[in-house]
Amino acid sequence: MGLFDIFKKRNNEEEKNNSKVEEVKSDETAAVDDGQKTDDKVDQVSEQATVTSEKEQEPSDQEEDSKESDVDDNADEEKVEEQTVEKQPSAEKSVEDDQTKFTEGLEKSRSTFGERLNRLFANFRSVDEDFFEDLEDTLIESDVGFDMAVSLTDQLRDEVKLQNSKSKDDVQNVIIQKMIDIYDQNGNDENTEIHFASQGPTVILFVGVNGVGKTTTIGKMANMYKQQGKKVLLAAADTFRAGAIQQLDEWAKRDGVDIVKKPEQSDPSAVVYEAVHKAKDENYDILFVDTAGRLQNKVNLMNELAKMKKVLTREIPDAPHEVLLVLDSTTGQNALNQAKLFKETTNVSGIVLTKLDGTAKGGIVLAIRNELHVPVKYVGLGEKVEDLREFNANDFVYGLFKGLIK
Ligand code: GDP
Ligand code: MG
Repeated sequence: MGLFDIFKKRNNEEEKNNSKVEEVKSDETAAVDDGQKTDDKVDQVSEQATVTSEKEQEPSDQEEDSKESDVDDNADEEKVEEQTVEKQPSAEKSVEDDQTKFTEGLEKSRSTFGERLNRLFANFRSVDEDFFEDLEDTLIESDVGFDMAVSLTDQLRDEVKLQNSKSKDDVQNVIIQKMIDIYDQNGNDENTEIHFASQGPTVILFVGVNGVGKTTTIGKMANMYKQQGKKVLLAAADTFRAGAIQQLDEWAKRDGVDIVKKPEQSDPSAVVYEAVHKAKDENYDILFVDTAGRLQNKVNLMNELAKMKKVLTREIPDAPHEVLLVLDSTTGQNALNQAKLFKETTNVSGIVLTKLDGTAKGGIVLAIRNELHVPVKYVGLGEKVEDLREFNANDFVYGLFKGLIK
């Protein structure tokens, strides 16, 4: 079964469950007997509740209003979370918070992507050139990638003709199916887990331009692995600015993990040299290497990364075990261009997509998959230590399209 059919089935089942939710609400005892399914229904209820309350808070179309209320929401959320962390470190509670956070963090992308497509279909009169132009614009706005938007629109012209689709639902279905098919063909998300060394320290190298969130992501991941009982070491190999070293140092203190650092402007490879020796000699489980994102030119970048790699492999032949490219999702097409450049200079094994909490441009997940063929392994949903999530591409893409499948 193709992914489109799987999504369609899931969508139908959820819609069926949705109507059951109404019954469940009025008959709680029935829900209690229903085991696993009850959880699904509860999710459905809370998801519906989120959507409804968002609509209530944002009755006007004016963006300013919605932005203000977003800010207020976040401030409230922060307070609530701090209290939860301090007073109730219960595991169950945090799993629940996790789910909510994830859904809320991605809601912006989901709703806007869906809204854009919905608006397009709402204005649908006939399948003519104007329609295809609007479709192309909609796709570009959603950041599915320029190439993807153009080629998809071309393919759809043929497909719509071929299937002689005329009704709105037909055309809508052909479009959604085509997008999901393209995404499906480019599949590689079995690879989303972090690859660990079979023996000795696992080395994870972080690359990406300045400001995308490398240091923050290391801080979050180091904390996560520390919590799992791993012995974690950080290497402050972004020696370009003193501020960068200090920032990683603060994360090390906060996480309670060790760090290797040298003065500003030291050779990054010298930091890596010291760190990899320490990691090996003192039996660390994971070494995170923070790097500078200076992109003056490709040759410099390539040389700097190659030098670090050489230093690493001298001590640990199969290091680095992961090269994670960090991309800022709010920068859209720019992020894709950066990714292409880094892919040409080093073996990127995975992507961390940050700042998804601040963007409605979730279509970039499709673009990354279709154009780069590198799995997104983690997503950043905020600046705090708990705002990092493993990424499930199928779930995310399903979220983008659900409700649009006819
Ligand atoms: P680096 O230069 O690549 O190391 O980037 P930094 O880790 O210093 O991050 C740059 C800025 O982005 C900082 O202000 C971070 O707090 C912020 N940031 C990083 N990740 C996220 C995220 O997932 N969401 C949000 N909203 N901000 C983030
Ligand atoms: Mg940094």
